[in-house]
Formats: sequence, structure tokens, C-alpha cells
Amino acid sequence: MPELTDAQLDQLMVDIGLTQPARRRGHRPLAPCGTVSAYQRHVRKHEPIDEACRQANTAAKRKQTGAGKSLEPITNHGTTGGYKRHLYRGEAPCEDCLLAERERSREQHRVRRAQQRRKGGAS
Ligand SMILES: [Zn+2]
Ligand SMILES: [Zn+2]
Repeated sequence: MPELTDAQLDQLMVDIGLTQPARRRGHRPLAPCGTVSAYQRHVRKHEPIDEACRQANTAAKRKQTGAGKSLEPITNHGTTGGYKRHLYRGEAPCEDCLLAERERSREQHRVRRAQQRRKGGAS
């Protein structure tokens, strides 16, 4: 692979639409609000922290630690217990857990209907 000069790299980035070359040299462009970098900049400069930056920071922290609440990793995927864990964590259940829950509610439905039928048609 041939060595590229900075200028060539700039051109390449522009060509593939990644960045404007003017922003690459000199001081780094400030991170836009709604990013963790911007949040940290606000903190550093004792600026008021806007909602977008606060959310970005919260989301990043949640991703790092796995969540805000005391949430262990889900080990029982594919069960209704795992399904409830997903909900508790405030996330969308995975395919396996969704299937397990669907299976359970269908079974519950079936049992209830069978019981009603038995009650109704007993005489
Ligand atoms: Zn901000
Ligand atoms: Zn799951």
C-alpha cells in the first residue's frame, strides 16, 4: 500500500465525503451538542449543560456500565423470565425471549378458553 501524504489523505476524505479538509488542520473542530465530548466541554468550561448533551452523556454511561439500575446480564434468554428482564431494563426483548413470551401467552389463552368451554358446556 503506497504511503499517502496529508494532502492526499485530505483529498481522499473529501472524495468519499467524509470531511471538509479545512477542519482537519489547526485546532480541532468543537464537538457538536448532543455528544459526550460536548458534554465534557460544558463541564470543563462550567457551561450550562443542555438537554442534548445530558442525554448523550447518560446514554454513553449506560452503555459503559450496562445500565443505571442494578442490572446483571441476562442469562436466561428464550424464557419468560428473560423476557421480563428485558422489559425491566427498558429494552426491546430479543427474538428468543419474545418467542418464549408469545408461547406463554398463547398457552395461557388456550387454557383459559378450555376452562371456559368446560364451564359453559358442562350441563
Ligand atoms: Zn451542549
Ligand atoms: Zn433475551
